[in-house]
Amino acid sequence: MERDIERVIIDEARLSDRVSELAGEITQRYQRFDEPMLLVPVLNGALVFVADLMRQLPIKMRLGMMAVSSYPGQSTASKGATIKRSLDSNLELRGLRVLIVDDILDTGNTLGVVQREIATREPASLETAVLLRKTDKDHGGVKADYVGFDIADEFVVGYGLDFDGHYRNLPHIAVLKREAYERAGCSTEDGDGRVR
Ligand code: 5GP
Ligand code: MG
Repeated sequence: MERDIERVIIDEARLSDRVSELAGEITQRYQRFDEPMLLVPVLNGALVFVADLMRQLPIKMRLGMMAVSSYPGQSTASKGATIKRSLDSNLELRGLRVLIVDDILDTGNTLGVVQREIATREPASLETAVLLRKTDKDHGGVKADYVGFDIADEFVVGYGLDFDGHYRNLPHIAVLKREAYERAGCSTEDGDGRVR
């Protein structure tokens, strides 16, 4: 697995420091509220991030999972987002402070769908935390309230993020070697040398 890595963009120490900072910011805000907190990780990508983050939030909370599919199979280009698993329809969100947690804000399709779905159920408040955000990109008007790192527009893996289901268990954020994408039959020929 490690030999497929071209370069590490964010190492374990930086990830850990930044996640702690974010947890501090989030704690500052949510500890003031009387209403209970509902943390909503968007699976599978947010799995590692949310596990590290939530253990540093000393706040009474519940967890509600959502799953959205946007990169089917061996693809590095977003194909639009579909909700695969939503919050329990019996769960009353009015009176809950909802925080969505996702791995990365790219086109904004995924978070847009999730934010709209939750907003229709009128929670007491709704915010979003992402580990990564691709800069110089149009996020389709979608905003995140807490952002770990701004990164360049290239396809990254690790710390929960996958390519074709693999590399989620890498402890850092990395870019794969061109061969690794090509081996999976993914085209990297888009003119600017970047994998999409
Ligand atoms: P969006 O819907 O904003 O385009 O993309 C959000 C979702 O696409 C993320 O939750 C993530 O699952 C996936 N995604 C976007 N960019 C990347 C990337 O660079 N690497 C990986 N592994 N997944 C990405
Ligand atoms: Mg995702």
